[in-house]
Formats: sequence, structure tokens, C-alpha cells
Amino acid sequence: MNVEEFRSGLRKWLDENDLTPGPDHSLQGHMLQFLRVSRALYDADWMRYGWPVEVGGLGGPAVLRAVVGEEVVGRRLAEPGPYSMLEVLTPTMIDYAPPELAAEMVPRLLRGEEQWCQGFSEPGSGSDLASLTTRAVQDGDNWIVNGQKVWTSFAQFSTRCILLTRTAPGHDGITAFFVDLDTPGITIRPLRTMHGVDEFCEVYYDDVVIPGSRMLGKPGDGWNLAMDLLPYERSSCFWQRIAYLYSRFDALIAEVSGGNKHGGHDEYDLGAAYLALHTLRCRSRATQHRLRDGARLGPDTSIDKVLLSSAEQQLYDTVRDLLPGVLELDETPWRSEYLYSRASTIYGGTAEIQRNIIARRLLDLGKE
Ligand SMILES: Cc1cc2nc3c(=O)[nH]c(=O)nc-3n(C[C@H](O)[C@H](O)[C@H](O)COP(=O)(O)OP(=O)(O)OC[C@H]3O[C@@H](n4cnc5c(N)ncnc54)[C@H](O)[C@@H]3O)c2cc1C
Repeated sequence: MNVEEFRSGLRKWLDENDLTPGPDHSLQGHMLQFLRVSRALYDADWMRYGWPVEVGGLGGPAVLRAVVGEEVVGRRLAEPGPYSMLEVLTPTMIDYAPPELAAEMVPRLLRGEEQWCQGFSEPGSGSDLASLTTRAVQDGDNWIVNGQKVWTSFAQFSTRCILLTRTAPGHDGITAFFVDLDTPGITIRPLRTMHGVDEFCEVYYDDVVIPGSRMLGKPGDGWNLAMDLLPYERSSCFWQRIAYLYSRFDALIAEVSGGNKHGGHDEYDLGAAYLALHTLRCRSRATQHRLRDGARLGPDTSIDKVLLSSAEQQLYDTVRDLLPGVLELDETPWRSEYLYSRASTIYGGTAEIQRNIIARRLLDLGKE
């Protein structure tokens, strides 16, 4: 299908079908709104394009998904955080889940019947993910899991989790499971972030029984699964976030030109923020096209991640500078957005780790 025809059809449909969010701006409100939007888009088929037929999709290039995300998030019908989980977790299920499990579960995610989360990080294992210690021990047809995860985004709203466990020493001893979060032995405790939202959770696993049929790949495939998943978390899921940042850039311009709360360098600062956003968008567009052409995403997505975090933080630094006192004194969304922008150099792998990957794996500069 022609991308521009697809986009204009979608725009027409969105104009005719009012999915404007309600008054609840809490995180729970955002989650429910995302489910509502997903269901409406799935039932009208828009959410199915760009995904394989075997998992409820209608086929076509992945770039069609990017168009849907861009239109939906750019119009502020859904927030970029919940939306991004779909783009991060679905490709992994398609590649690693037994085909009948993917066929059963993925449509539930695409249709907004469920939310899923990603259980990778642990208190002592973030950047050094390979050191994770949550154990899975085989017991007949089942596996028994014990351990703790942390920073699991949206776990309190999720039905299932893609979980990394240790089944043997070393990188080859990491095994992934698709876990139902209502299984006995799982305790989810939300954590409050500095921007005042319970976005992520500690998740405890105490003698949790997981059927062997829920293993993703084979025992020991977990590291490869993580290495395949992370490039999505570092690139393709950004397309809608960029649309969101553009909408906030426009809002900043409207606010700056409508009031007197600014100093003398507005044009320079706005131009620099726009340049960072535009550079990110060009890079992200190239990534979307590589995905469309069937490329396997890899360490080169660390460039997308560094550009995203730099552009996002520069945009909100510009908000701070051009709207003096607003972040500090006023109860507007700018404050929580500014604080959240600080997380962009942490989630999905920190900025330092991305620069290490660029140096070692793209520039071949060796270890530090
Ligand atoms: C908003 C948000 C959402 C998240 N959601 C999820 C989620 O859904 N699921 C999940 O599993 N995780 C999630 N995370 C966790 C995230 O993946 C980790 O925070 C991240 O990988 C960093 O790990 P860490 O916090 O343990 O920091 P550490 O690894 O302890 O790093 C601390 C500091 O040391 C630096 N550092 C560490 N190693 C090196 C090195 N070798 N060279 C140079 N510098 C280094 C880091 O860059 C960082 O500045 C989320 C995090 C955030 C902020």
C-alpha cells in the first residue's frame, strides 16, 4: 500500500472518529486511553498493518506502523510511553515465542485487551545486564523462578511480562519466559519517580511456577533475545515519541510568542532545539526505512538513542530557559515533562553505554 494514501486514509478516519482523551491525566488514565485507542484502531484495521498475518496483522511494511504511531501520538490521542511498549515487545514475541503462543497473545496486545511489560533490570544488573541473578530451575515440565526485578515500567497495569532469568552461568545461561503476572508468588510494588508518577515497579518472584511452554526460544537464548529487543527500544519505538516532542516544540513556540516570559536569545535557542529534533527525525526516518527494507536492527541504533536523549533534553532545557520560573513555580505539565526528560539518558541503556557501543562496535576502537 502507498504510504501517503495510507496516511491520508488514517487522517480522515481519525477526523471522523473522536478518540480525544478524557479528563483523567493520571498514568492510569493514560494507560486506559491507550487501550481504548488501540482497540478502536485495531477494529478499524489501522493497528494491524505492518504486522504479520500469523499474529493478527494484515502485513505490509513496518513503516505503516510508524505512520499510525506518528498520527496518534502527534495528535496527543495516546502518550508515547505506553505506546512504545507495543513496538518494543511485539517483534520479540514474533521472533521467539512458539508460533501458536504468538498467534494467541499478540492480537490481545495489538487490540488493547492487555498491556505487557519488560522484566530485564535488577537491583544489581542494569547496564551490566548479563550479571542478572533471578533464577529459573527446571522442575519437570515447569520452571520455578525466584528473584527480584526493578524499574519494570507499567508492571502494575500489565497482564504479562517478558522476563529474563538465569538458568546457568554466563551469557549462554540466560533464558527468557512470557509470564502471566497473576501467577501466585509474584508481588508488584510501584515506585514513585521524581516526576511524581508511579511509572515503574519492583517485581518480586517467589517460587513462581512457569510452564515450559512459556519459554521464549530455547534455554540459553535469553541474551540473544535481549540483544534483538534492545535495538527496537533504542530506535523504532522513537518515531511516535518524536511526533510528541514536535507537538511540545510547537506548544513552546506558541507560549513564547504569546507572552513576555522570555529573554533575548529565543530565536537562537529555539533554532538549536529544532535542529536537534530535526536531526533525530532524519536519523529515525532512515532507521524506519531500513526496517521497511527488511534490515536487522543492531548496534547502530545506539546512534538513534543518543540523538533522542540529547534532543529531548535540549528541548526541555530550552523550555526552562525561555519560560523562566515556570518549571520551578507553576503547576503545568512542563515541570513533569522536564523531569521525565532526564530519564531519557537512562532508560533503554544509558547514554554512556550507548557511546561505548558506538565506540567499540561501530568505530572498532576497542575497549577503554
Ligand atoms: C524511565 C525508565 C524506565 C525503565 N523501564 C524499564 C523496564 O521497563 N524494564 C527494565 O528491565 N528496565 C527498565 N529501566 C531500567 C534501565 O534499563 C536501567 O536503568 C539502565 O539500563 C541503567 O541501569 P542501572 O539503573 O542499573 O544503572 P547502572 O548500570 O548502575 O549505571 C549507573 C551509572 O554508571 C554508568 N555506567 C555503568 N556501567 C558503565 C560502563 N561500563 N562504562 C561507563 N559508564 C557506565 C551508567 O551510564 C550510569 O550513569 C527503566 C529505566 C528508566 C529510567
